[in-house]
Amino acid sequence: MELYSSKINKLIEELAALPGIGAKSAARLAFYLINEPEEHVKRLSEAMMDAKRSIHYCKECYTLTDSELCPICSSPKRDHEVIMVVETTRDLAAYERTGKYEGVYHVLHGAISPMLGIGPGDIRLKELMKRLEGNVKEVIIATNSSLEGETTAMYISKLIKPAGIKCTRIASGVPVGGDLENIDEVTLLRALEGRVQL
Ligand code: ZN
Repeated sequence: MELYSSKINKLIEELAALPGIGAKSAARLAFYLINEPEEHVKRLSEAMMDAKRSIHYCKECYTLTDSELCPICSSPKRDHEVIMVVETTRDLAAYERTGKYEGVYHVLHGAISPMLGIGPGDIRLKELMKRLEGNVKEVIIATNSSLEGETTAMYISKLIKPAGIKCTRIASGVPVGGDLENIDEVTLLRALEGRVQL
């Protein structure tokens, strides 16, 4: 016998499919939404649809943005000759929160993982190489310190070296296997300042 009506089950199922939401949280959220005023649920669902429809990749750095160029890429105050390579838009946000990084970014949207069958062609590497044809004096590799992040860092440094561009890796102040977005600003800054040449 089903515990709830099929429509509630469907809602719980959809919520449970979101990252970090288990079955119990999904049920709690579902009942919360059902008990909220219709106006609130409408605002929430419209915000989701609106974000989904209007957000796309920045044509320069591939972060998520709602304009053609993201605010960082279109800012004349940033140093466009220093590119920090990160795995996700959330990692970019983590470095932006430090307020101290003045270069621009390149978002790979993943990392190389032979185990998961994710190869160099599955992340935004080609696009990075294309950017390096312009004026770039340093590429800072800030992928996570997981196995995938390290593999990706190594792969990128091998690609970049022949071009004679300075290539650095953020220092290991970032704990092994740590996601950048969960690390405090001071540690991130220390990792950036202590970066080593590859
Ligand atoms: Zn951008």
